[in-house]
Amino acid sequence: MSPEALTDRAPAGTSPAEWAARVELAACYRLFGRLGWHEMIYNHITLRVPGTEDQFLINPFGLMYREVTASNLVRIDTEGRVLDGSAYGVNPAGFIVHRSVHMARPDAHCVMHTHTTAGLAVACQEEGLLPISFPAVFYTDRLAYHDFEGITLEREECARLAASLGTRNAMILRNHGLLTCGPTVADAFAELYHLQRACEVQVAALAGGRPIRTPPAEVARRAAAQFDATARHGEQNALLFAAMLRWMDEAEPGFRR
Ligand SMILES: [Zn+2]
Repeated sequence: MSPEALTDRAPAGTSPAEWAARVELAACYRLFGRLGWHEMIYNHITLRVPGTEDQFLINPFGLMYREVTASNLVRIDTEGRVLDGSAYGVNPAGFIVHRSVHMARPDAHCVMHTHTTAGLAVACQEEGLLPISFPAVFYTDRLAYHDFEGITLEREECARLAASLGTRNAMILRNHGLLTCGPTVADAFAELYHLQRACEVQVAALAGGRPIRTPPAEVARRAAAQFDATARHGEQNALLFAAMLRWMDEAEPGFRR
């Protein structure tokens, strides 16, 4: 759906562009809830407010993803201070991870971070993501890793986390979870969807107890290059997210409130 189509009910005081961003982000929270990619009241998906460099939308701390709506998302600055008069607070530790990426990467308007069981399981495995499955080979030479440093509260870790990510859009936080970013919600979601699937398949394949067949490295690299060309182009990602938006409109349209 085009952003224009989402702006028809922008309330007074909110720009049409910010309202469109709020609707899209709220839909994404509901989608994560449906997919089981939530951590109860923790974890975040953040989106830069259109037309700003240093303002972001984030979920209200204390609500589950299924309770997030366009209007209860909180607009904050780089320090996590509330800018829109919201009665809700935000999770400062959670935002530090997202802030690290947003501030180091002007192109990373959307940042997603999850603690899914499959993502965490692979994040705990010494070798990280193995290039063994259709979605996993997409990440050959495209995946960053960041070593575990505990709950991210230290500003010094921000620079290390951003350095670990570099110019990549997908990262495994070792022992912790998954992180993706992109210029749009749709792009970050597509990265996370395929990475999550790769982790689920790896966990299932290793649990099978049978020898694992690994494709030749050149096949994996070629598949990654093909995926990268598609991922950075964005058209398929937009199609995928538009379908997710239709699903959420049918399943739980309350996100548009
Ligand atoms: Zn986390």
